[in-house]
Amino acid sequence: MNKPNRRKIITQKNWLDLQRKLDNLEWQLSFIRDNMQTRTKNYLRFDECVPPTSVCKDVVSMMDGMKTYTGFIGKLADYYGCAIMQAYVDINLDPKYNAVYYADRKTTYTKPTVSKSTILHEFFHHLVALHIVVCEKEDEEKKADVYARTFLVRAGEE
Ligand SMILES: [Zn+2]
Repeated sequence: MNKPNRRKIITQKNWLDLQRKLDNLEWQLSFIRDNMQTRTKNYLRFDECVPPTSVCKDVVSMMDGMKTYTGFIGKLADYYGCAIMQAYVDINLDPKYNAVYYADRKTTYTKPTVSKSTILHEFFHHLVALHIVVCEKEDEEKKADVYARTFLVRAGEE
């Protein structure tokens, strides 16, 4: 005699519930992975992420004489031991912005003339995107401004 089939029939609704649970688990897993990375990589806290005076001064003097973005960005990348941020002038940039940083491309696009403070603000986004600095998403804009200001003050600019 056949046993009754006790397997649960997967209905469309069950399927969606399972999918949702799986998405949730994946999300939790990525959160745990990030936290493990945080511990092994020793992310910088915000209050320790601005370089020392000598580095700020060097970077700012390179910015003063800059014809391209490469010099000072290379210097910053060396200091943090990270990948360089790509930076390009975009003459078609939305006029609302001085510059825009794309985390997926690790690239910033700027207006043809841009202030030191703007480019340092964008570099902060780069540090967050590379998980070098810990920063809550909702604080990122404000902290990018503070980073740029602190950097310039340390270099003796303001
Ligand atoms: Zn920003």
